[in-house]
Amino acid sequence: MLSQRLTGSLRRQFEPRRSGLPRILLPHHIRLLSTPPPRAPLVSSTKRKIASSPNLLGPLGSTYSIRRITFLSRHFSSAHPVISFCVRLALSSILGIGVVVTVILLHDATTYSERHVDRVPCNPLSLHPRTGGKKNLPIVEVNLDDEEDDAKRAMKDKPRLVVIGGGWGAVALLQSLPPSAYNVTLISPQTYFTFTPLLPSACVGTVEPRSLVEPIRKLIARVRGHYLMGAAVDLDMAERLVEVEVASDQGTGTMRCYVPYDKLIIAVGSTSNDHGVKGLEHCFQLKTVPDAQAIRRRVMTNLELASLPTTTPEDRKRLLSFVICGGGPTGVEFAAELRDMMAEDVLKYYPKLLESEVQVHVVQSQDHILNTYAEKISQYAEQKFKRSDVNVIVNARVQEVTPNSVKLTLKDPKNKEAKPEEAELAAGFVLWSTGIAMQPFTRRLVELLPNQFHSKAVEVDSFLRVQGAPKGTVYAVGDAATVHTNLVNDLMDLWEKFDENKDETLDFDEWQKMSKHIKQKYPLASKNLERLRELFDEFDKDQDQRLSLNEVAEMFQHLSQKMTSYPATAQVASQQGKYLGKKFSKLARQYKVLRENDMPDLDDEAFYDPFVYRHLGTLAYIGNSAVFDYDGWSLAGGLLAMYAWRSIYWSEQTSMRTRMLLMLDWVKRGIFGRDLSKVSFVISSIYHVLIHSSKELRLSPA
Ligand SMILES: Cc1cc2nc3c(=O)[nH]c(=O)nc-3n(C[C@H](O)[C@H](O)[C@H](O)COP(=O)(O)OP(=O)(O)OC[C@H]3O[C@@H](n4cnc5c(N)ncnc54)[C@H](O)[C@@H]3O)c2cc1C
Repeated sequence: MLSQRLTGSLRRQFEPRRSGLPRILLPHHIRLLSTPPPRAPLVSSTKRKIASSPNLLGPLGSTYSIRRITFLSRHFSSAHPVISFCVRLALSSILGIGVVVTVILLHDATTYSERHVDRVPCNPLSLHPRTGGKKNLPIVEVNLDDEEDDAKRAMKDKPRLVVIGGGWGAVALLQSLPPSAYNVTLISPQTYFTFTPLLPSACVGTVEPRSLVEPIRKLIARVRGHYLMGAAVDLDMAERLVEVEVASDQGTGTMRCYVPYDKLIIAVGSTSNDHGVKGLEHCFQLKTVPDAQAIRRRVMTNLELASLPTTTPEDRKRLLSFVICGGGPTGVEFAAELRDMMAEDVLKYYPKLLESEVQVHVVQSQDHILNTYAEKISQYAEQKFKRSDVNVIVNARVQEVTPNSVKLTLKDPKNKEAKPEEAELAAGFVLWSTGIAMQPFTRRLVELLPNQFHSKAVEVDSFLRVQGAPKGTVYAVGDAATVHTNLVNDLMDLWEKFDENKDETLDFDEWQKMSKHIKQKYPLASKNLERLRELFDEFDKDQDQRLSLNEVAEMFQHLSQKMTSYPATAQVASQQGKYLGKKFSKLARQYKVLRENDMPDLDDEAFYDPFVYRHLGTLAYIGNSAVFDYDGWSLAGGLLAMYAWRSIYWSEQTSMRTRMLLMLDWVKRGIFGRDLSKVSFVISSIYHVLIHSSKELRLSPA
């Protein structure tokens, strides 16, 4: 009875499911089962399908093939259940592959086309632009594709929105602008957007550079915009013209032209800060894809040279000494990736001697690496590096970089008065990653404006308008911009407005109104203006329950020092780009009415709130583990944190294409290891012709 029930239940298990495959088969089932399973209807139903659509199945769809499959299936289905299962599996696989191949062939047949376009309408001005402006340069008022179709023709009369730069800020702006609201032109020497957080991984071949870039032309197509490969070099704010250097004659030379704008967005990012250190021409920087490719070439060259029997032991030691100047996220992530590569791939494929000779040094001027993160995170990263043999040198300042070494001074943290000790590290590779400085175009802009005092970026107000530029025309986002935090500059205006009874003092009511206004205008100050009564009492030195002008000035100075500007991160740049996109969308909806009534653009303050940054946490990869820091809450861990880190970056990609490429890279590295060859395809050669930053800083020797 029991065996009957068992056999019955097992039969049910072997009965084919709708998909045609049996349920799980275990060895003891085979022994218990005496009768063969019933014939599967799979083949006959498949046969019907195949017969009704022979074209779709190509060679498999022929009557002969179907008869053969049916015969094979019948023949084997009466055989042993395991054999029957295997045969069905094999036949279904063949069928599946056949369908996939046929679909690919059909796709290819329908996507290749010999379509060509005859007589495209083109405005003569786009072929021969008129010259003008202060320097009498060609003015790009019309683009080659402006007359192509009705949709493009309609764009001509839209306000001109010119975006300088193609990084995080610019792309976030493009993605949040409504299509066809503005006549958009994006100017950048790089034809692609770069996903910078994964550049350290590209330096050692964990991911391919191609997986981190998205063509600007694809991104700008959504808003029917134009892309101009060039670098902005100057600005004429009176005539609203950007001066752009473009390549001429296949990139061997350059020429200049003007691009007119109604609204200009500066999103040119930043360059590396040289801190006045000598010998930076011997260093690499890591800002762009060509930088990552140059680093990869140098790392591979050093490993190969160190493997030669003709290399002396001293040279081998130097070649394998990698010095990273800067213990911020970029320096730390690069050190972690380099160490991973040495442990996982070099040990496997290079002479074992190399692994014991490799040295990775991280030189940091502060007490800890990752010093902008929570202390717990910094300590975790330092311990992790200690275990992985990464030498962290804190309280050290680089004085000079020579072709073969890095000269440092080391401070004694316990004795600040003591003379710093001098040291020298042999170096076969030096990465310079010590903070940001202005791009040449940002520097030029700051020179043109009267009230710009910041040393690293152009000052903007809370609406991201460049201070001192004609209102509502020039905006800046990302690394190139810093939100103005000096309240003292606005003291007299605020005093005038809020000393309502004109008694030359502020009482508590007036102070409350003033602080409410400050919070709205300077969201950065909100946190410091929470305890109004305490602040009032603290700065009311003579305790007369009123604040004099001097007392308010002192308070503003104190508040300005406490207000820290936003960090130079992709997160800030992206949120600022999105903010401008949404603001301009709202403005675009009102343009028609404004233009019809011959009215000027609305003042930003009249129709939109100031920019408020929402910090979503900070991440860093530290070598088969990752750290995460969010508003005092921190997480540091092994593989799980690393997968969380990967998932976040994966979801932040700009397209499905890069998501797929990235996934393939990670799988490829997991199965086959990193690519250790020196082959690398230079993604942009024109970049270094147009952009002067690396030349000026004399960085990136390759
Ligand atoms: C290796 C590395 C890792 C990083 N990791 C992180 C991270 O994990 N998380 C994070 O939040 N941030 C990270 N950052 C910082 C982040 O990349 C920057 O803060 C962000 O790129 C700033 O965005 P942006 O739009 O201001 O400038 P960018 O993204 O740098 O873009 C600037 C654009 O302007 C173009 N350009 C430059 N000069 C000109 C000119 N004269 N004319 C026209 N175009 C010009 C450039 O070609 C580029 O397209 C990392 C940065 C680096 C280098």
